[in-house]
Amino acid sequence: MEERVIIIGGGHGGSQAAASLRQEGFDGAIALVNDETELPYHKPPLSKTFLKTPGGGSQMLRPESFYRDNGVELLFGRRVEELDRSAGRVRLDDGVSLPFSQIILATGARPRLPQVEGNGLDGIFALRNFADAGRIREATAASRSAIVVGGGFIGMEIAHTLAGLGKHVTLVEMAPRVLGRSVAPLISSYAERRAREAGIDLRTGVGVSGFGGANGRVDAVRLTDGSRISADLVVLGTGVVPNVELAAAAGLAIDNGIVVDEQMRTADPRILALGDVTSFHHWHAARPVRLESVQNASDQAKHAARTITGKPSAFHEVPWFWSDQGDIKLQTAGLSFDADRHLLAGDPEANAFSVWHFAGPRLLAVDSINRAADHMIARRLLAAGIDPTEEDINLGTPRLKEMISSK
Ligand SMILES: Cc1cc2nc3c(=O)[nH]c(=O)nc-3n(C[C@H](O)[C@H](O)[C@H](O)COP(=O)(O)OP(=O)(O)OC[C@H]3O[C@@H](n4cnc5c(N)ncnc54)[C@H](O)[C@@H]3O)c2cc1C
Repeated sequence: MEERVIIIGGGHGGSQAAASLRQEGFDGAIALVNDETELPYHKPPLSKTFLKTPGGGSQMLRPESFYRDNGVELLFGRRVEELDRSAGRVRLDDGVSLPFSQIILATGARPRLPQVEGNGLDGIFALRNFADAGRIREATAASRSAIVVGGGFIGMEIAHTLAGLGKHVTLVEMAPRVLGRSVAPLISSYAERRAREAGIDLRTGVGVSGFGGANGRVDAVRLTDGSRISADLVVLGTGVVPNVELAAAAGLAIDNGIVVDEQMRTADPRILALGDVTSFHHWHAARPVRLESVQNASDQAKHAARTITGKPSAFHEVPWFWSDQGDIKLQTAGLSFDADRHLLAGDPEANAFSVWHFAGPRLLAVDSINRAADHMIARRLLAAGIDPTEEDINLGTPRLKEMISSK
């Protein structure tokens, strides 16, 4: 049989995998199956510019001609229902069964919905894809006051976007601080202050106990402190769950994601996985992680393509991420889980600063606000395994660059 890679999921990772397979010289058949109908598109703008742009469409990752010219068969608006490892076939929702020599699972994640009363009312939305964003944009036009549930990256971005459109926005975060899973407390408190300055009514340390409505439409959110907030639009930013079901039903290991090794392989060497759906032992953080970022999905896709074309390389990429919240550009490099020391560089009052995270002398991560140069240098330091001292950091970019070039 001719080699055929079936990529399941046409998001950031799936589209990159198709491109990278060809770049790495794979000359068998490639099929990209996606349950959405749009060509693969950039997701980050959906919580930012897209909501502010009436009539604006999706931003394609690659033009249609790219897939045609590279012999990538697009099976869109179709879902893979079953991965049959013993038969070496996948079954689509229209009954079609396709043989494979390798599979790449790039099924991403879906929003986690709060299990509280009233969560099915009209006017409550979660944002994961283009169709969701279109519905939110339409509802926003007719709305005056919105509640955003969840103060993670997406919740904070949506709150800023809606406030920028002149809506009255309340953001509710159960944890004591926003962005608590990802950044230093100093960054959280800065982001909270800027959100309040942007007119967002920010409430931390309080959860949602239920949604109230009339005639099937949401009109209020009830909070765990007994209060009630009126709103005609609710957007949920309450995290995601990885789409592991196909892999689980096929008997592959799952641990907060599909478990893959350094070459993106599952325990079945014909089946690889990448992106938001994967859990893997991180080379730098020395623990299993599941990362949700464009960088991780794209880099894992490149590695998966190298594995399939017989040039496996260990996944030693530096994780990085960005988030645009109003006029704040937040960037993170590395993972700060085990940090026990934090150094501030720059000045929060000047809206430009970074927090450098260390475990003892070892650099773990850098969170930057409007300091792109720090972010870029941090990525290079982490990749090279260089641990600057406080003095090095205070000497600034020239010193840090010198350390990299002399390594
Ligand atoms: C609104 C928003 C803003 C974001 N902003 C940022 C940002 O600023 N910076 C950043 O780094 N990251 C950002 N992210 C995260 C980033 O988009 C994701 O990490 C990235 O899309 C993950 O890529 P992926 O290929 O793993 O999954 P996805 O891009 O989610 O693609 C998975 C695709 O698989 C499809 N699928 C699932 N199951 C099946 C099946 N059985 N059959 C067929 N198709 C299937 C899904 O419908 C989906 O189309 C944002 C995400 C969202 C939603």
